[in-house]
Amino acid sequence: MKVIKLYNSKSLKIEEFVPIKEKEVTMYVCGPTVYDHIHIGNARPLVVFDTLKRLFMAVGYDVKYVSNYTDVDDKIINRSKSLNVSEKELSEEMIKAYEKIKLALNVSKMHKTPKVTETMDDIIKFIDELILSGNAYVVDGDVYFRINSLSDYGSLSHQNLEDLKSGARVEENSKKENPLDFVLWKETKTGVKWESSYSFGRPGWHSECVVMIKKELGNLIDIHAGGSDLRFPHHENERIQAKALYGSELANYWLHNGMLTFGGEKMSKSLGNLISAKEAVEKFGANLVRWLLLSSHYRDALPFTDESIKNAGSEILKIETALKQANVILSLNSFKDEKIDEESYDLFLNQLSNDINTPNAYTVIFDTIKKLNILLRNKEYSVFEISKYQNSILKMLDILGIDFKIKNLDNDEKQLYLKWQEFKQAKNFKEADLIRESLIQKGII
Ligand SMILES: [Zn+2]
Repeated sequence: MKVIKLYNSKSLKIEEFVPIKEKEVTMYVCGPTVYDHIHIGNARPLVVFDTLKRLFMAVGYDVKYVSNYTDVDDKIINRSKSLNVSEKELSEEMIKAYEKIKLALNVSKMHKTPKVTETMDDIIKFIDELILSGNAYVVDGDVYFRINSLSDYGSLSHQNLEDLKSGARVEENSKKENPLDFVLWKETKTGVKWESSYSFGRPGWHSECVVMIKKELGNLIDIHAGGSDLRFPHHENERIQAKALYGSELANYWLHNGMLTFGGEKMSKSLGNLISAKEAVEKFGANLVRWLLLSSHYRDALPFTDESIKNAGSEILKIETALKQANVILSLNSFKDEKIDEESYDLFLNQLSNDINTPNAYTVIFDTIKKLNILLRNKEYSVFEISKYQNSILKMLDILGIDFKIKNLDNDEKQLYLKWQEFKQAKNFKEADLIRESLIQKGII
């Protein structure tokens, strides 16, 4: 099986991936808090880690990919109040919208998508166990994790504990034993709440993911992934709870994607430069958005600017045009063959297997497009060769989740295409242009 190398944020090294169970990968990616439509930055982990999943599958792994829905949160309570709908109504509507975006961006079906509201009993049990084992404590109906109970807090995000402490002291909460202790459960007066032995309240975000990982995939998983903004405190806090309770790591590989930049600045709500994934897909098309989200190496910042959108558009058009031209020739010759150009496909897999190096993988695609275009320009073309390169490009694009939905031409379409050629040869440009318009509309050329 092809070796896949990944940069592990915990070791700060590129490591060879070795699965826990042979030929199987368990992956967990922190999902959205469903209070609003996701912004385009949140679509990056969705697309990047789906591509990694597709790569694992392409080289022969069975992948169990789980991503959650945080459907209990202050943001949901506040927004549902301002919209005058129930929290459940709001979160369900946002989950539907998210599912639509996943479909539009061609994100493959996930193994499980658990919700916090459906995992509550297990979350309360988990917090109970942390209290019983002395790793957490109750103060006035709230529960906090006792970070002093373990020595290696901070080792995932490589943070200095003293620096963190002085930062945390600014917003010190006198209820805590240590300013870095974080909340596992908080008593609540407003919004939906659950009964526990400590109070009526809600769980903290950091416990939810650990419990859903354990429930759907087990105590230890292969890969835990998410945006680099989740590395601290979220992933650090997830890891330390698992370590406290199971005495072992939560994941063998921690992967974090870089943020989107918008004219040089990180994209976030506070900067007011927000575009939702939904708006981006409607405006630019799903293929362009997916292509753009994969165009930078996933650990680097990704510019989401007029220029990068324009570049992605012209690259996508270049690929689509070549594939359509090849498709017309193959359809007219009724040629169908499954063979691929193994050499370019293997080069492509090698690039992706090297810590998901999509920019280099794109170069392989363009080199293969170049070869295909040379064949297409040759009057004595070989349909076998055209088919071979077309198949390999389609196979590469499939791993990237790019689908042009190119279909073979039916008889009427073939006739129409031939008529266009006839009119062009006869220099009847008026008729030729009319047919050309129709061929473009049908997506043939
Ligand atoms: Zn999480």
